Amino acid sequence: VNDTKTALVTGANKGIGLAIAHGLGAIGFRVAVGARDQARRAKAVEQLHAAGIDAFGVALDVTSDDGVAAAATTIEQTSGRLDVLVNNAGIAGRTEDAAQDPTALDLDNLRTTLDTNVFGVVRVINAMLPLLYRAESPRIVNLSSNMGSLALQTGPIMAAYAPSKTMLNSLTTQYARRLAETKVIVNATCPGYVATDFTGHNAPRSPEQGAAIAIALATLPDDGPRGGFFDDAGVVPW
Ligand code: NDP
Repeated sequence: VNDTKTALVTGANKGIGLAIAHGLGAIGFRVAVGARDQARRAKAVEQLHAAGIDAFGVALDVTSDDGVAAAATTIEQTSGRLDVLVNNAGIAGRTEDAAQDPTALDLDNLRTTLDTNVFGVVRVINAMLPLLYRAESPRIVNLSSNMGSLALQTGPIMAAYAPSKTMLNSLTTQYARRLAETKVIVNATCPGYVATDFTGHNAPRSPEQGAAIAIALATLPDDGPRGGFFDDAGVVPW
């Protein structure tokens, strides 16, 4: 029996994803650093190793069916199972047009944004579920945003990004219902407004602060909540 738990974090080469990888590694997880770019992936793994964390790189572009399937094979060969999946990879879906005209919604931009932020999550969950079923206390955490909350309608107009996160929240509840009779606990989270490349580093929270709630949801007890949407302060209406 292998007692070391493995966590896959998508988009783990920088920002909140790297902080989640670091945080999970610091509490004893072996971290699979999912990243699409070879050099950026290697650099992140190197940084984690330097911090004393057990990490390995996994080539992972969440928009590629074949790539996601190959990532599942890599994890199966390396660890035999998956204990935690953090779906962190995401894009802002900003376009020049949208900056000039906030009512413009470019169809290609919407497709691209949904392919990463929504279908990417579905691809990865579906590919990893067979490995998650092998774990004792499997957890899935989806990085969403309060910008996707229909109840709150916060932040600037981001006509592709906001709906992508609304749909991600909805999918989270559907997965939770489908997985209700299993050990797999799935929740969504909002990290708050975090200083990363995503926000041009112009935001009040550090990546570590943004990572904290995702790490908490990744390590929920077996009777923890399912299908919810949480930030540091608790339940987020959506
Ligand atoms: P960053 O832009 O700093 O990092 C995004 C990460 O996602 C990068 O590692 C990027 O890889 C990766 N990524 C993008 N597309 C793909 C893809 N197709 N396949 C694999 N990886 C991909 O963003 P943040 O760290 O700020 O955001 C992380 C998550 O948190 C996102 O889902 C975001 O929506 C969410 N969030 C962020 C907030 C914030 O204030 N920052 C607020 C609310 C939610 P690469 O380096 O190769 O581009």
